[in-house]
Amino acid sequence: MKGKNASKPVKSFRRRDLLQVGAALAVHFGLGRRHAEVMAAGLDRLLSERPPVLWLQGLSCSGCSVSFLNTHEPGPLEVLTEIISLVYHSTVSATQGEQANEVIDRTIQAGDYLLVMEGAIPAMPEACLIGGRPLTGLLPEAVRRARAIIAAGTCASFGGIPAAEGNPTSAMGLEAFMESVKLPTGQRLVNCPGCPVHPAWFVGTLATVLARGYPKVDPVLLTPAAFYGHSVHDECPKFYYWEKREFAEKFGDEGCLFKLGCLGPLSHTDCPRRQWNGGVNWCIRAGAPCVACTSPDFARRKDFPFYRKGEEVHAVAYKEEDRLEAAQ
Ligand code: SF4
Ligand code: SF4
Repeated sequence: MKGKNASKPVKSFRRRDLLQVGAALAVHFGLGRRHAEVMAAGLDRLLSERPPVLWLQGLSCSGCSVSFLNTHEPGPLEVLTEIISLVYHSTVSATQGEQANEVIDRTIQAGDYLLVMEGAIPAMPEACLIGGRPLTGLLPEAVRRARAIIAAGTCASFGGIPAAEGNPTSAMGLEAFMESVKLPTGQRLVNCPGCPVHPAWFVGTLATVLARGYPKVDPVLLTPAAFYGHSVHDECPKFYYWEKREFAEKFGDEGCLFKLGCLGPLSHTDCPRRQWNGGVNWCIRAGAPCVACTSPDFARRKDFPFYRKGEEVHAVAYKEEDRLEAAQ
């Protein structure tokens, strides 16, 4: 797809081009070629409608925004200028101050936009202000009037690092926040966890929601089945070693990383197939155990491995039995 179509503005695509792009997108997002027609129809609709996207940030490091900007095929420029209409984003938008408040208010009043939430939501109102106004005051109406809502990243989905044990703000994920203010989540909220969220998981979900409506999700985690349907362990290239019970004893050894604390059995994503940075590498191929960055428990407990340092082998903050049971 790159090369032939890359320099061509997306809006100039004809039906045959759309089908080609739809097929490439379907394969790229791991949906299979049979979704090409659906993707092409969705793209057609997107290009004519350019639905507004309101992107709010709570307690976050902006890592998921950076990851989103690393999207390729389609690239960030195409997504931002041709496929969606990003009306507001705290770090990408040039709009500031009162003008930013006006854009947010106007968008919410008009309704029917896609709301993207990045970062956790603090129960303490003064812990997160947007244009001087508490996020907790703005968010219920923003959620209520949205066509659909995507939680981008683990912090927005489940609380993540800002909601770690002992945090003073009582931070939570969007689903927990919506429940706390009695807003329904069913068929509206899609969780796209990851620390950060993979650009393909996010852009693929965004395209699917806009083109086809609410996707098939895990009934408990609300994660799209297309990207979060299998455990890392199930598709891991080191599964061969796991089956033979050949374990690495220290970093750099051959063998399954289970004894070095791998949480692949507890994490559901397509990292082994998709990899990161355009398919260059990923955690386990780089010799690092999976830390289950997409799981609801990620980084929540204060004894989570990456809060500690100086240990040769990180004892994991999960019960051995739980990891073993998930790995079977
Ligand atoms: S425990 Fe980790 S390294 Fe071993 S097979 Fe499972 S995911 Fe791969
Ligand atoms: S391999 Fe595990 S820790 Fe690494 S990105 Fe994938 S889910 Fe996250």
